[in-house]
Amino acid sequence: MKTIWRNTILSWLAGLVACVVIGLIVGQLLGVLLLYVLGSLYWQLYQLYQFHNWLRYSGRAAPPEASGIWGDVFDAVYRLQKKQRKSKRRMRQALTRIESSTTALKEGVIMADNQGNLEWWNNSAGHFLGLIRHTDRGQIITNIVRNPDFFRYFSQKRFGEPLIIKSPAKDGVYLEIQTTLYDKNDHLIFVRDVTRLHLLEQMRKDFVANASHELKTPLTVIKGYLETLDMFRDSLPSSMQKGIVNMSEQSERMEQLIEDLLLLSRLESNDKREENQWHKISNIINSITNAMGPILKDSHSLSLHIPEEAHLYGSYKELYSAFSNLIVNAIKYSPDGGAITVKWESSEFNGVFSVQDSGIGIDPRYIPRLTERFFRVDKGRGSKTGGTGLGLAIVKHVLLHHEAKLQIRSQPGFGSTFSCHFPANRIRNDAVTAAIAITTDESNESPSD
Ligand code: ADP
Repeated sequence: MKTIWRNTILSWLAGLVACVVIGLIVGQLLGVLLLYVLGSLYWQLYQLYQFHNWLRYSGRAAPPEASGIWGDVFDAVYRLQKKQRKSKRRMRQALTRIESSTTALKEGVIMADNQGNLEWWNNSAGHFLGLIRHTDRGQIITNIVRNPDFFRYFSQKRFGEPLIIKSPAKDGVYLEIQTTLYDKNDHLIFVRDVTRLHLLEQMRKDFVANASHELKTPLTVIKGYLETLDMFRDSLPSSMQKGIVNMSEQSERMEQLIEDLLLLSRLESNDKREENQWHKISNIINSITNAMGPILKDSHSLSLHIPEEAHLYGSYKELYSAFSNLIVNAIKYSPDGGAITVKWESSEFNGVFSVQDSGIGIDPRYIPRLTERFFRVDKGRGSKTGGTGLGLAIVKHVLLHHEAKLQIRSQPGFGSTFSCHFPANRIRNDAVTAAIAITTDESNESPSD
């Protein structure tokens, strides 16, 4: 580089010296020098013109011949152009490969910007959701996939859990939608056909619901005979008396189990749900404590802190069942004389219903599994406490229906606190509830929808 510059400057100086000599010889020094400067300028301008022409109009052609510094500039730019073209080609090839591999994917992939405007999708996504490339690109995805669950999932950014919806384009197909945010909160959406899994799950639910229902009748008959036998218990031999007591206890347990299974099935099926309404929380708790009054008074000290004005929007039966499960558990897993506190606290962000006991507590490693069906920390304890192992599964489902979350804090030997966190749109204090109740009469879906 330095040599080129040196040579350029040297040849220019040599020209200048030659001009001075010629100028002196012909006695026109200034005129010759002026001519030289103008000539040099013209040459530079001509090279610039060539360069500009080549850059703009010659496409991929080699640069024109040029000497000195201009030759070097042409070569350098030409080399740069070739390099750029090569990397562009490589990138295009990589893009084509990515595109053809995602096209071959069975799973649907969709890219949408941070507002949800569709940018790109593969063929499977197009088939599953009925997306049409030339009309739907740039449209907001919720305008194209018209499904209320999907609208809620997408607009409220509930991306923690996958969503299952019916395919809007293919009859009888169920899709699992999973969304990840990337870059500037852009959306990467995966769509998977889960029809087989969904149908199997449906079969399982139906089987449990039907089997539980069918078990009810024979159990009622057995219970009837047991009650009759119980009336003549005193006249029976003592070994049989014990048997009858045992059978009665077990049939009670079985009845509870069937009731819980049926309730869980109803909660899962979503269709036969009670309408959501505003309920006074203290009313729910009072009817629970009245129902279990005699047991409570004798064995445990229960303190209630439920403000009279506190209201919750939801299904009375479901909330009753969730709250009573938590209170019954607190009694079951606390020794006699144990203190139980039932509380409702609310802020502008949420409302928290909590049941605190001073009972046996739970080892932290079991806490994540407590809401699984039939899970019990102490397997042997179930028969003693009369538990079915379904109580917390029911609580979980009820809370899911009420957009609420369960939090469990416990210390073995010191007690546990089960708290249900309800979103702000489901809680009201008395003063505003009257007004809200009128407006929510038309829509029972959600108080703020
Ligand atoms: P169960 O009918 O056995 O009580 P649940 O689903 O209600 O079934 O509870 C699951 C398990 O969680 C229980 O078997 C028990 O081991 C534990 N558990 C629930 N509540 C409490 C509590 N308040 N204190 C200690 N352990 C509890």
